[in-house]
Amino acid sequence: MDLKQPSLYRLGIVGAGQIARMTHQAALKLGITPRLLAEHKHDVAAQVAPDARFGHPDALSVFAEMCDVVTFEHERVDLGLLKLLEESGTHIRPGTKTITPAFDKLHQRMLLSKKGFVVPGFAELRGPDDLLDFSQKYSYPLVIKSIKAALPGQSGVWIVQDQNEAMRVISEHSATPLMIEEFKPLLGELVAIVARRPGGNKRLYPLAEVFNRDGRCREVHAPATVGANIAAEARELAMAIADEIEAVGVLAVELLLTSNGLVVNELAARPHNAGHLSLEGCPTSQFENHIRAILDLPLGATWLRSKAAVTVNVIGERDGVDPIDNLADALAVEGAHVHLYGKIPAPDSKLGHVTALGDNIEQAREIARRAEAVLMGHRYLKGERE
Ligand code: ADP
Repeated sequence: MDLKQPSLYRLGIVGAGQIARMTHQAALKLGITPRLLAEHKHDVAAQVAPDARFGHPDALSVFAEMCDVVTFEHERVDLGLLKLLEESGTHIRPGTKTITPAFDKLHQRMLLSKKGFVVPGFAELRGPDDLLDFSQKYSYPLVIKSIKAALPGQSGVWIVQDQNEAMRVISEHSATPLMIEEFKPLLGELVAIVARRPGGNKRLYPLAEVFNRDGRCREVHAPATVGANIAAEARELAMAIADEIEAVGVLAVELLLTSNGLVVNELAARPHNAGHLSLEGCPTSQFENHIRAILDLPLGATWLRSKAAVTVNVIGERDGVDPIDNLADALAVEGAHVHLYGKIPAPDSKLGHVTALGDNIEQAREIARRAEAVLMGHRYLKGERE
């Protein structure tokens, strides 16, 4: 592979959702037109990619032959297949040493705890016996998780309050490999995003704080409003984990903030929801740095351009409002950076996001929330949607 001539890069992205769409746009800026492996014609990245191929992610071998470097926007790819491809010389970036823990939550917990990183107590959940063993060590509520990533729109995390509820989840998901873990009471949730080149050169994005409601990420604030020690610890953790698993590209380290400090929740070896504010908030977006890192090109600066940045996600509602119908009004909100992904509106589906920069979180949040409310057809009075 000749990495000296960007015009010759044959870059493949597996997946064609909004992460792939924004990564594709970042590559175009550099003169690189990625080839996509999409599942459906209406996938939002396939709509904008002239070179989209269609097939199940398991049909990766044929796709990989057309690419010098292959990267991923989701975790629903067979690891065994990736290992075979890697052994046969395909440049899988990040490689399987990174992807294995990112794609397999049980493996991830085992690896991180073995290396001394703090994670919730956990065990494989093969059936009722494992549940009884675990519930003797940790009291309810407990968290049951699918070991592999859930399909889009489906949940892979169940917080169960008692044994009956846990048994119900086990029987309803008997075909899904599951694990169980200790429930950590949360003070907050943070995401540390790092971009890393093959040789280990790294850049860290501003630490982000994420706010979820009904299992969906609603808002992302940067910088996170945590003390300097927690912020430094989060940064150190992200860099140490990126080195440990030899991450290449963007690695997002999701952290639970508890009264006893930080606990690692999850790793995502790709651009992450919490990093979308880097598009306007940082000199180099997470998408561009992902491309740069996987092609072993110099990384760009990642500092925050303003004192604060806030992203509010645009999530589909029951009434089927299409945010594009309200685009003009949303664009009239001064300072709002509106992103719509071109999806058909459906309840609970992430249709876009709005980012605003400001001198403080409240100021940026006010702008982003106002534009989001307008997009979804709500009236907005200072501080609240109506
Ligand atoms: P997903 O793959 O859906 O992102 P996560 O493992 O990140 O799954 O879990 C989703 C959410 O569930 C987290 O953002 C957090 O709010 C909550 N959660 C997950 N694990 C725990 C835990 N061990 N203790 C407390 N809350 C948890």
